[in-house]
Amino acid sequence: MYRLKIADSFSAGHQLKCYRGKCERVHGHNFKVEVIVEGHTLDRAGLLTDFKVLKKRLAAILDKLDHQMLNQLSPFKKTNPSSENLARHIYEKFSAKLPSRLRLLEVWVWESDNAGACFRPDAS
Ligand SMILES: [Zn+2]
Repeated sequence: MYRLKIADSFSAGHQLKCYRGKCERVHGHNFKVEVIVEGHTLDRAGLLTDFKVLKKRLAAILDKLDHQMLNQLSPFKKTNPSSENLARHIYEKFSAKLPSRLRLLEVWVWESDNAGACFRPDAS
């Protein structure tokens, strides 16, 4: 089994509803996102897949979140844009049409250097 990890970042505003504390007020984060894929088969070059393919896929997803007020985007109008829900959103987008020899293991969303959330489906 081989695993690859890529990372990227985006900046966005959000506020958490149903929450008591500073995070119920509008504020922003420089979110760091990590994506981990795995698979059993390497290609002729000895790669599970090219990093740049994964990075491009993640960049396209994050581009829609970057410099946005997350609560105003359709996936988060009814769902709080917490780091947990952001991780699930990115997981669902990233896993769509992923080549069959790759499996998306998990997505991490870090809202600071020392606080991050991971989404990984139960079946993993
Ligand atoms: Zn926050």
